[in-house]
Amino acid sequence: MKWKDRRQSANVEDRRGTRTKGLIGGSLGGGVLIIIVILLLTFRGGGDLSQILTSGIASPVEGSSYQGTEQEEELAQFVSVVLAETEDVWDKLFAQEGMDYIYPGLVLYTDYVDSACGMASSATGPFYCPSDQKVYIDLSFYQELREKFSAPGDFAMAYVISHEVGHHVQTLLGIMEDVQYIQARVSEAEANEYNVRLELQSDYFAGV
Ligand SMILES: [Zn+2]
Repeated sequence: MKWKDRRQSANVEDRRGTRTKGLIGGSLGGGVLIIIVILLLTFRGGGDLSQILTSGIASPVEGSSYQGTEQEEELAQFVSVVLAETEDVWDKLFAQEGMDYIYPGLVLYTDYVDSACGMASSATGPFYCPSDQKVYIDLSFYQELREKFSAPGDFAMAYVISHEVGHHVQTLLGIMEDVQYIQARVSEAEANEYNVRLELQSDYFAGV
């Protein structure tokens, strides 16, 4: 299947090459720095604070200062095309049901990342965080798919992205919340059963 020259998502946030310190001090320092920068910008330009805040949220893949290998850059573009495809598919399906599909964000990172669900490392594998409605992925997972899971090729990677987007769909539909409500009231073994079902449904959604 040809994917080049197809629409790329505007919701990819490129955080590759960003050094995230695994300590509270590190993130605190970063937060303070961001506030100072925002204050400076607001003062100097008399600008709109919300505008500055939003502009910092999503940047296209091209906007990143990180320069990976040719293969990495191609993979980043591929991921963006796949995300755009899921946007188009779910947008249409939600519209058919009279609902708005809220696009998830997708964060590319290297080694470590700070999400609304806590700190994560590449070892975690790709994941979706319902609190900030973002998918997080270290592109090195592509190699892992090939070497560790014997699942080489573009399709496996596309499926991984679509599966994580499936968790986003579960969140938007309230399925995640319903399941968590039940899980808090059943045994650990039963709660795990529900996790398996969530994963299977997400695989199903990826197939969509
Ligand atoms: Zn999953």
